[in-house]
Amino acid sequence: MPLELPPTFAFSQSSLQSFANCPRRFWLAYVEQLSWPAIEVAPYAEHERMLKLGAQFHRLVERAEAGLPADRLTDGLDHPLDEWFENYVHHRPADLPTEFVEVERALSVPFATATGQYRLEARYDLLAVGGEGAQRQAVILDWKTNQRVTRRSVLQQRLQTVVYPFVLVEASVGLPWGPVTPEQVEMRYWFAAAPTAAVIFRYSSDLHAANRARLFPLLEEILSGERQADFPKVPDTDENRRRFCGYCVYRSRCDRGIGAGDLEEIADAEFLDVDLESALEFRLEEVEELAF
Ligand code: SF4
Repeated sequence: MPLELPPTFAFSQSSLQSFANCPRRFWLAYVEQLSWPAIEVAPYAEHERMLKLGAQFHRLVERAEAGLPADRLTDGLDHPLDEWFENYVHHRPADLPTEFVEVERALSVPFATATGQYRLEARYDLLAVGGEGAQRQAVILDWKTNQRVTRRSVLQQRLQTVVYPFVLVEASVGLPWGPVTPEQVEMRYWFAAAPTAAVIFRYSSDLHAANRARLFPLLEEILSGERQADFPKVPDTDENRRRFCGYCVYRSRCDRGIGAGDLEEIADAEFLDVDLESALEFRLEEVEELAF
């Protein structure tokens, strides 16, 4: 029997990263779709605040990219949102292509397996495309509001760095500014905490082939599961409890402790695969609208 996923489900970097970190987490979040039953980090209130500010930052940038004057957007911003936005205003990369600029754009590509048709989706904070012919350049920009810059080696391993350029190249065939070759694509992580030092990954045909070879077996592996037992918990080691379970909302259900991980540790421990912005993806609709 094929794995039962919601009819509208599309694989994303978040769901794939969940599976890579802990197959059981994927099962609970995406197959059973359990809401978040436990507090993910301590102190809870501060964690929630940072997540909401991160989501508000994305909405502010979206408005600024749409052409609203920055000085009309800055009134009454909480700290550190005011500082993040100030950094965006003064240090938005100046060398981005300007011909096509798309904000909060979702793209997806179909893929077929023995059990059915699925989609792989990427949601881009900003796509900037320009130049003609061989000079065409497509830049993927991802805004990050983590308190510290994530190490390049950690970003390189993240499935976001794999999925985003892969989907862009594959989907670009059907887009007005496409197609683009892998060599014409680059991915940049821009950190509000270090706005002049974006972490840049150039893409290439070799990487595209390697990403395909990584993604499709991973997707097949997920889709070969049928029941919860096929999605085991991450092995119960001290390191895994610290890296994953301490920040996972399902830890009481999994009997992996009741104490939450520490927010300060997330900021300090760069190896942690916790993305503060996507951690609360099921609750983003609860983020209050900004009053403009
Ligand atoms: S608590 Fe640990 S074992 Fe359970 S789903 Fe979360 S990461 Fe996996």
